[in-house]
Amino acid sequence: MTNAFVNGKYMAAEDACLNIEDRGTLFGDGVYEFFKVHNGKVFMAEEHLDRLRYSASELELTVPYSDEKIRAIIDKLIDTNALQYGGIYLQLTRGAAHRIHQFPDECSPNFFIVAREMPPVPQSLYEEGMSVLLLPDQRWKRCDIKSLNLLANILAKQKAIKAGVDDAILYSERGITESTSSSVFTVIDGVLTTTPPGPWILPGITRQAVLELALKDNIPVAERFVSKEELTAADEVIITNTRSDVTPVTTVDGKPVGNGKPGKITRRLMDLFADLLK
Ligand code: PLP
Repeated sequence: MTNAFVNGKYMAAEDACLNIEDRGTLFGDGVYEFFKVHNGKVFMAEEHLDRLRYSASELELTVPYSDEKIRAIIDKLIDTNALQYGGIYLQLTRGAAHRIHQFPDECSPNFFIVAREMPPVPQSLYEEGMSVLLLPDQRWKRCDIKSLNLLANILAKQKAIKAGVDDAILYSERGITESTSSSVFTVIDGVLTTTPPGPWILPGITRQAVLELALKDNIPVAERFVSKEELTAADEVIITNTRSDVTPVTTVDGKPVGNGKPGKITRRLMDLFADLLK
């Protein structure tokens, strides 16, 4: 199996090694991207590559390949693995060096891409919706960078799973930010509302696509913070990400959202997104 590209070579992910002093491991000093493979093709590659370049430049990292080269690598991994539905994980770190906090003088970036088949998201999640907890957002103040530092995200996700629900939606002193790995939308009085872009959220590729689909479909849209209380009282709650697209949230902190079923605007957006994927 050749499902990885590691610093210029194709190999099986299981055979790939990174230096234990890679700064991604020591400090989380790196960035990543996650692309969807749908029907044998990578979805919205350009948007993901733009975000990769933004994240890298914010950490003063240089992406070692052109967009064309990265797309060619991804296409080759999809091809050689006959991948129909799955995900492409790309990681770039500053490289390996003795452990010092400042950027080392001598350090060459480590860059790898892994292609994986993924089981489809269970249909029940779309039909019945997800359950979430509301938890405080304990992440750093640059969530717009898709960095490797996901500790606060995974602790919140683990807390949610341990409590028997699917995920956690996070709130800060401003209001709802996002979930542990998704953008969050609410429908309040017919207006599709989502957190404004800024350092408090990742600029989700799916979020942007959903906003554009909604505008084209004449669904009123607002980008503003909603409070925990507004989210709890919202008619509909939706999360979006590359893995599961548009997913209804039907239970928040044990209470039903609206009538406890995926709402009208949610279902419309799910259909529009399915058309976009086609
Ligand atoms: N917010 C966070 C914290 C994420 O980790 C992700 C995806 O991984 C998203 C939002 C959704 O982004 P995208 O739609 O680009 O997958």
